[in-house]
Amino acid sequence: VKYSEGKGWHDAKITARKPLTLDPAASVLHYAQEIFEGMKAYRTEGGGIATFRPEENAKRFRASAERMAMADLPQEIFMQAVDELVKIDQDWVPAGEGKSLYLRPFMIATEVFLGVKPASEYLFIVIACPVGAYFGSGCVSVWVSEDYTRAAPGGTGAAKCGGNYAASLVAQRDSKTHGCDQVLFLDSREQRFIEEMGGMNVMFLRDDNTLVTPPLTGTILPGITRDAILQLARDRGLKVEQTPLEIDEIFAGAASGRYKEAFACGTAAVISPIGSLRRTGGEALFGDGKTAGEVSMGLKKALTEIQAGKTNDAHGWIHAIT
Ligand code: PMP
Repeated sequence: VKYSEGKGWHDAKITARKPLTLDPAASVLHYAQEIFEGMKAYRTEGGGIATFRPEENAKRFRASAERMAMADLPQEIFMQAVDELVKIDQDWVPAGEGKSLYLRPFMIATEVFLGVKPASEYLFIVIACPVGAYFGSGCVSVWVSEDYTRAAPGGTGAAKCGGNYAASLVAQRDSKTHGCDQVLFLDSREQRFIEEMGGMNVMFLRDDNTLVTPPLTGTILPGITRDAILQLARDRGLKVEQTPLEIDEIFAGAASGRYKEAFACGTAAVISPIGSLRRTGGEALFGDGKTAGEVSMGLKKALTEIQAGKTNDAHGWIHAIT
């Protein structure tokens, strides 16, 4: 779907996948006005296909567009584009545990100019690709970055824009150099509080049956999985706290047994248990560092069973497509 000022959204179409033609002065190539979403279509119990809370992706997309001074995309267009594509690609929605059709809605600025100002022309596209589980079974190890931060107050941390990820790649590469699977970012002011991971939010289980996660203060992405898990945790009688978490407290608490479990969560990662956090001069193990925590796995089961249509969708999160 195309947008131009004055004309609004127009020319919606579905075509076979092919390369895009862009003018070399298309503003996205220079000023990075680009936003995206990540979502999945699941095959449900009865053989149908459904997405998970797509309205939330549409809302977050609009919020990202607002932050990046891009055109507003009405929720109906977002929803319709995703639904139509999934319908056409329904044979590509795989069945089986951890499998889904990954959907990538995105918007780029296509106006041709060099100069720093918001563009007046945009293109919204959705592409799809079948995927399996993001991480294998077992726990992930996480490198705590003290050299790079992901977002600063007043920055774009709460928007899903490509630039955030471009800036985080070097830290992700660092985590591999240190033998870890993923990176954990700290706040940019003091490097003291936990923020989030490269493409996931992070949560910890405290020994007073409380699930704790950093609050949404504008520097982290408001994860839709994060929100669902907090709700499922409450449903299961856990206490939930969204509160600033000091990295030193987590390291000390992992050693003392106060923090028993940790996991990363997101559309791609679902719930991935964290076995260890590592930083210069130290390591924090959750449990034995290898075994997924019981509560984390219980929450994962609850979430994936809703997504696969195996249990009652008490919160109305499932959006049936076929
Ligand atoms: N944080 C970041 C930086 C991410 O890229 C993602 C994935 N979209 C998340 C958190 C989790 O968000 P969601 O649960 O909506 O996928």
